[in-house]
Amino acid sequence: MKNKFMQLAINEAWKYQFHTYPNPAVGATVVRNNKVLSVQAHKTSGMPHAEVNALKSAYLTAYPNSELKQLVSSLEIHEFLTQNHNDFFKDCEIYVTLEPCNHIGKTPACAMLLEAISIKKVYIGTLDPNNVASGGKQRLENSGIEVEIDICKEQTDKLLFPFIKWNKDNFVFYKMAMREDGSVTGGYITSKDSLTKVHEIRIKLDLMVIGGNTVRIDRPTLDSRFAQQNISPNILIYSKSKEFDNAIPLFSVKNREVEISDSLDKISKNNFVMIEGGYNLLNTIKEKIDCLVLFISHKENLNPKFDISSLGFKKVYSYSINDKDEIVFLF
Ligand SMILES: [Zn+2]
Repeated sequence: MKNKFMQLAINEAWKYQFHTYPNPAVGATVVRNNKVLSVQAHKTSGMPHAEVNALKSAYLTAYPNSELKQLVSSLEIHEFLTQNHNDFFKDCEIYVTLEPCNHIGKTPACAMLLEAISIKKVYIGTLDPNNVASGGKQRLENSGIEVEIDICKEQTDKLLFPFIKWNKDNFVFYKMAMREDGSVTGGYITSKDSLTKVHEIRIKLDLMVIGGNTVRIDRPTLDSRFAQQNISPNILIYSKSKEFDNAIPLFSVKNREVEISDSLDKISKNNFVMIEGGYNLLNTIKEKIDCLVLFISHKENLNPKFDISSLGFKKVYSYSINDKDEIVFLF
C-alpha cells in the first residue's frame, strides 16, 4: 500500500515536470484509513507546494463548502488550516515525493504546517538535498510526528533529477515530436494539448535551441501563445549559414533575442535549456543533453513501431497527455 500511495504522488508530480522550474516537481497523497483523500502536485513556482494543495483537497472532502475552497495563495491556505483543522488530520497520513520544506521562502514552510495540524504520519520519498530547505524531517520528528523515508526512492530520485541538475550547473533537455513509426517531419505531429504543454514549458526557459534546417523547413513562430502568459524564450539557431528568410515568423516575435551561430557554447551558460529538432541535431549534441523528451502521437497506427531505446537514452517515465499523445522522459 505504501508504494501504491507514493506512486500516485509520483505520477501527479511528473505531470508538472519542468513547469515548476526553478522549483522541484513534487507530488503528495493524503490517505485516511487506507483511503485516498487527495493526490496533488506543486504546479508552478510561487504557488502552493504539493503538501499544501493535497491537504487543502483532503480537507475539502470533509468540508466541501468551507471557505478554504476559495483560497489560492499558500499563506492563506496555511493560515486557514492552522486555525481550522479541527483535528481532521490526526488520522491522516501524507506521502510526499520530497522531504517537506522547512524554511520560509515565497511560501511558508510545509513542515511547520504539518506540525501545526498534527498529521499522524509523513512518508517521504527522497530527503531534500538542498541545505536551505532541509530539516523538515527533523522538525516533524521533534514534534512527535512519525516519519518514514525512502519510499519508492529510486523513482522519487528520478523525478528530482532535473532539479538537482539545474541547481548544480544547468539542465538541458531535447524535445522531439514523432509518430509511432519514428517519423518526425511533415507538419504538426501531436495534438493541441501537447503543443499547449510545450508552450507552458517554453515560458520557463532561459534559452531555446533549434536547428537551422528545421527553421528553414518548418518556418516556426516558437512563441508561447497557448500558455497562460505569452513569454517567448530567447532563441539560438544552430546553423553554419547565417542566411534566413526574415519573413519566418520567429524573427518578428517581440521581447526576445534571436542569435544565429554555429557554436553551442551558449548552452552551458544558460540554466534551463530546451533544444528542439530532429535526429540529426540530436546526434550532433547528444553529449550535452541531460534528458530526452519525446512527444509520441498514437493517432495513426503506424508500423513498424519505432524502438525509442535505439536513441541511446533510458526511459524513466511516460504518461498519456490525451487519448492520442504520449510524453516519454528518457535520461
Ligand atoms: Zn513546502
